[in-house]
Amino acid sequence: MKVVYADNNATTKVAPEVLEAMMPYFSEYYGNPSSMHTFGGQVAKKVDMARQQVADLIGSDPSEIVFTSCGTESDNAAIWGILRANPHKRHIVTSRVEHPAVYNLCKYLAQNGYHVTELGVDSNGMLNLNELADVVREDTAIVSVMYANNETGVIFPIEDIGRIVKERGSLLHTDAVQAVGKIPVNLSKSTIDLLTLSGHKLHAPKGVGALFVRKGITFTPFIVGGHQERNRRGGTENVPSIVGLGKACELAKKHMPEEQTRVKQLRDKLEDEILRKAPDARVNGHKTHRLPNTTNLSFEFVEGEAILLLLNEKGICASSGSACTSGSLEPSHVLRAMGVPFTAVHGSVRLSLSRYSTLEDVDFIIEHLPPIIRRLREISPYGRQTRAKEQPASISASA
Ligand code: PLP
Repeated sequence: MKVVYADNNATTKVAPEVLEAMMPYFSEYYGNPSSMHTFGGQVAKKVDMARQQVADLIGSDPSEIVFTSCGTESDNAAIWGILRANPHKRHIVTSRVEHPAVYNLCKYLAQNGYHVTELGVDSNGMLNLNELADVVREDTAIVSVMYANNETGVIFPIEDIGRIVKERGSLLHTDAVQAVGKIPVNLSKSTIDLLTLSGHKLHAPKGVGALFVRKGITFTPFIVGGHQERNRRGGTENVPSIVGLGKACELAKKHMPEEQTRVKQLRDKLEDEILRKAPDARVNGHKTHRLPNTTNLSFEFVEGEAILLLLNEKGICASSGSACTSGSLEPSHVLRAMGVPFTAVHGSVRLSLSRYSTLEDVDFIIEHLPPIIRRLREISPYGRQTRAKEQPASISASA
């Protein structure tokens, strides 16, 4: 069956060039990069090359890059690393719309003796910077707010946030897992102290990530072990994946200028056409301060899961704003924080494109999604209220 993949914020395809770069590091150049011998030394050189490629994409120095096992580890390492290095500071500031890697960690910290302040967002998903200025205090060890939201694509004004944090003498960590590779990120003249990225969101494999730690920041390792990563992360390096991450960063840098525009045009077409064809629909998230590849749409009076199942029947991969937890539908904490009406939260769908998305893919989704919404509304008791507003049915029985 034809597959139209529109779930790139969940994970991306490994680029063929990335796979090719990785292959020799499984069984040909398999030495340990920490070894004294030349066989391992050549692998260490390749790891350093990957470090340079990552640094080049985000405008940092290679020495500021620590390889990790994923975005979640990088987030945990950043927050724990700063808390442990500053034990007298017990306050953390974060937002209500973070990914669970930060959100649930902060919940855990709040239950274990730390003070956590969660910043709210407005209906566009934007932070109130005045509120931020009011809550950062002397004992704030770290402010952790994301660069771009995984569900809505909303981009926070991270440098403005950083300036406020700096003026108040604290440190800024940003989870940039969804931003790196999609929009330019430049840490050379930035207020960001620590930044998380993850390989599988930018066409590298799953299970590899990196943490940027600005020179001069006192940071205690999260994973304690050997002396790898300049004593900042114990554990033998996942060399093939690190090589893949480096290559993916090089490719992202090369393709970004044209892909940003092309993907945005595809996303805008997708969004505009669906809104035109499906009544009682809305876009969740700021219209312009948004990743070029993401649209989060809510359809009143239908369940997101039902939409996903019918999209899946057509071979279209998307995701919803709610997660099925132990049999109960847990609505998205991001959409709830934005004050999206309950009925719209439940009918939300996220479509996320990549540089492999085509006009044909977008046209296929535009052809199939609106009839699916119409069909679901026809069988839903809530949907009947809206049927009068709908356009004449132009769908076949199998739509
Ligand atoms: N942060 C954000 C914003 C994400 O979207 C994700 C993954 O969906 C993560 C962190 C976690 O990254 P990983 O899957 O590499 O642990």
